[in-house]
Amino acid sequence: MIVTVASGKGGTGKTTVAVNLAVTAAEAITRTETIKATQLVIAPENPENFVELIDCDVEEPNAHLFVKPQNVVKQEISTMVPAVDMALCTFCGECEKICRFSAITMIAKKIMIFPEMCHSCKGCVMVCPTGAIKEGARVLGSLLTGQSSHGFNLTWGELRVGEAMSPPLIKQVKKTITCGSGRSNSISEDINNKLSIVDAPPGTSCPAVTTLRGSDFALLVAEETPFGLNDLALTVEALKKLGVPMGIVINRADNDQKGIIDDYAEKENIEIMQRIPFSREAAKICSKGLLLVNELPEMKQCFKELYLKIVSRITQNAKESKYKKTSTKTATSSSDNSIVGRS
Ligand code: SF4
Ligand code: SF4
Repeated sequence: MIVTVASGKGGTGKTTVAVNLAVTAAEAITRTETIKATQLVIAPENPENFVELIDCDVEEPNAHLFVKPQNVVKQEISTMVPAVDMALCTFCGECEKICRFSAITMIAKKIMIFPEMCHSCKGCVMVCPTGAIKEGARVLGSLLTGQSSHGFNLTWGELRVGEAMSPPLIKQVKKTITCGSGRSNSISEDINNKLSIVDAPPGTSCPAVTTLRGSDFALLVAEETPFGLNDLALTVEALKKLGVPMGIVINRADNDQKGIIDDYAEKENIEIMQRIPFSREAAKICSKGLLLVNELPEMKQCFKELYLKIVSRITQNAKESKYKKTSTKTATSSSDNSIVGRS
């Protein structure tokens, strides 16, 4: 199951939630409690590799600052850009015509390429009648993987300084997700075997949508301010279009008092899954790059409850969707039978 931690704006504590949730989920004791609470057999085959953490916030990845992974392997990630052999070009203009992004153009018998605008669709390569356009490469950034001492792998991307397009790198980072990557029906197959916690970039533009697409569940981290509410509402609308189920975590909550986020959640019928109370001590711990669940017993409990709620909710969703599929199948087959009967 893929659980993506997202937020409409930066600085809400999204990464704090993602890393602490991953550490909580990786603890054997939590898994045992999950089995009791949900009757799920969590990670029967390989408990050591049940959890993985994927940081898709490639413009500002910082999960590794908390997780401090060991044995980090780094690889360069590139994308295709056209490279023209002018000796073969007949200036037919076909490449310019096909490019929707104006990334290749013909000016006074010269072919100009704008790599930053190229979406690597290879359309120009395919239409070039003389084979003058070859596949070149542009470095997007790096893909890094390391092992945390908490028993899970962390994978993250680092966008090259000056690179404007992050979605191609995010897609490469997402390819490393080992459970049902990007498949909308992955829940029932993977629920017992793998939990991929994904830290999404903030906002609701292409990087966030690219990350959220294909998730089994989105956990939205929000702050109880008018700005926080505005950005949360934008993310909720985006998720509705993507068809991803969601829940809300209120970070730096003012005790148990209900506020504007609760009113909004009630109106939209979205569950508030946890309230993480405001605490100066917690802020100090985070600023030192330490984990809340390791330092504060009340936070350990808080994240354990959150984890159990998420797993129960995904299980419930999976059961409901299975039930819907079965009833649709039954309805279809009985209507088929009645047609056969009539003929
Ligand atoms: S399609 Fe090929 S031959 Fe035609 S203008 Fe472009 S590079 Fe030149
Ligand atoms: S690969 Fe696609 S986007 Fe890039 S220049 Fe060619 S046609 Fe345009």
